[in-house]
Amino acid sequence: MVDAMLEKLRPLAARVRQTAICYRNFKVGAAAVGFTADGMARVFVGANKRVDKTHPKNCAEMQIMRAAKTAKAQLAVIVIIGKRNLDNGSGKMPRTLHPCDKCRAIMRRHIRQGTGVITPKTKIVSVRPACDVMEELTVEELMKYHGESL
Ligand SMILES: [Zn+2]
Repeated sequence: MVDAMLEKLRPLAARVRQTAICYRNFKVGAAAVGFTADGMARVFVGANKRVDKTHPKNCAEMQIMRAAKTAKAQLAVIVIIGKRNLDNGSGKMPRTLHPCDKCRAIMRRHIRQGTGVITPKTKIVSVRPACDVMEELTVEELMKYHGESL
């Protein structure tokens, strides 16, 4: 299931990434699948938008979580494409780009508040732009990697 979704989501995330706007040319694209209560699959996309440093972060993942919340969908998998980056929250340097500390905080809030948008089992697949390195983690594993609790 995840493999089939991945085949469709990865090129979609790569396409959406081209619409990213970033003052430091740090472009991130993401595509996700979520399911509504009636079992319908919904696709969500996002690309980071930040024209300068003084603007608040508007990550690809944030846009996807907002849209999924509006659609009352539970995210099964989020595919993220971007260059790896030092994590400002944990100080770690993952092999691929992970959702940032602010996005992880939003994920935790969804889990703690039981919104259903994100679960500990939601899969995060992060891919380098050249597609040579890919990581697949659950949200639970992602938090653990960064030394954060759910
Ligand atoms: Zn973020």
